[in-house]
Amino acid sequence: MTAIILDQIAGKLPLWVEDSRKCSSEGRVASYIPELSKAPTEALGIHLLDGSGRSASAGDCGLSFTMQSISKVFTLILALIENGEEAVFHKVGMEPTGDNFNSMLKLELVRPGIPFNPLINAGAIAISSLIGGRNAEEKSARTLQFFRSLAGNDSLECDEDVRRSESETANLNRSMAYLLKDNGVLEGDVEEVLAVYFHHCSISVTCADLARMALVLAFDGVDPIKGERLIPRRYVQIAKTFMTTCGMYNASGEFAIQVGLPAKSGVSGGILTLVPGQYGIGVVGPALNAKGNSIAGVQLLETMSRELDLSMF
Ligand code: GLN
Repeated sequence: MTAIILDQIAGKLPLWVEDSRKCSSEGRVASYIPELSKAPTEALGIHLLDGSGRSASAGDCGLSFTMQSISKVFTLILALIENGEEAVFHKVGMEPTGDNFNSMLKLELVRPGIPFNPLINAGAIAISSLIGGRNAEEKSARTLQFFRSLAGNDSLECDEDVRRSESETANLNRSMAYLLKDNGVLEGDVEEVLAVYFHHCSISVTCADLARMALVLAFDGVDPIKGERLIPRRYVQIAKTFMTTCGMYNASGEFAIQVGLPAKSGVSGGILTLVPGQYGIGVVGPALNAKGNSIAGVQLLETMSRELDLSMF
């Protein structure tokens, strides 16, 4: 990996974005959450932020989108802060599944019936149940506050239309949560846990917000712009390891080979990634490939990694 200089890439970024944007017509915007199908298929944007607060962006970086599975990285961190490693990994495992992100197959096949990792839906739902608070409202408020502090943006909010749309159509997640309850994984009321999960998946961000959150991970838990530690180093290490092994669903191995950076994608087409010690990066491209990752976003990151020699490996 070589150090990248912002001025050197600022000129090339729009060209790489326009080139990658072309493949968005081969992808499809997620529609299983009906509200997500309204996203612009051809959109592609990126924002990079360095430790001194300098940034570069290109394309549709003003687009707002919901975090979806990207939020799972940060609820994991919050659950670790509030409960410690032992309690968290009593409820979820540490291994990739090889199954789809919404699969419940192994919850019945493998004993004990705990989710394989915190980034698949079953694992993230289990993590939602570990967030502190007396009820769903308090847990959601705490989560939103944590996300706001990481993004350095007090105006982050949940997109109520997306949250409602997911909640009304979440038959699969709902069945998974009830199975988890039966397996003894979920504490408390299942619908309350699901409400916390849908809320954090529906927190609305831009690429700049993702870049700022990623920057904190890139600097091992310290916000380099404010000079403030927001996350213990050990928990950032755990989060970045999961991002590397499971962050891009069933394409995590290929992404590690082609891009070589810790990353997490969401079904709304967002990707949060980082260059350790250097940059936080936020990408959005709502059209998804067959594995559920932003088709143009992945292409853009592959190009950047190759051209700038960004791989950690
Ligand atoms: N909220 C979405 C779901 O539970 C998150 C999935 C994703 O981004 N892959 O289905």
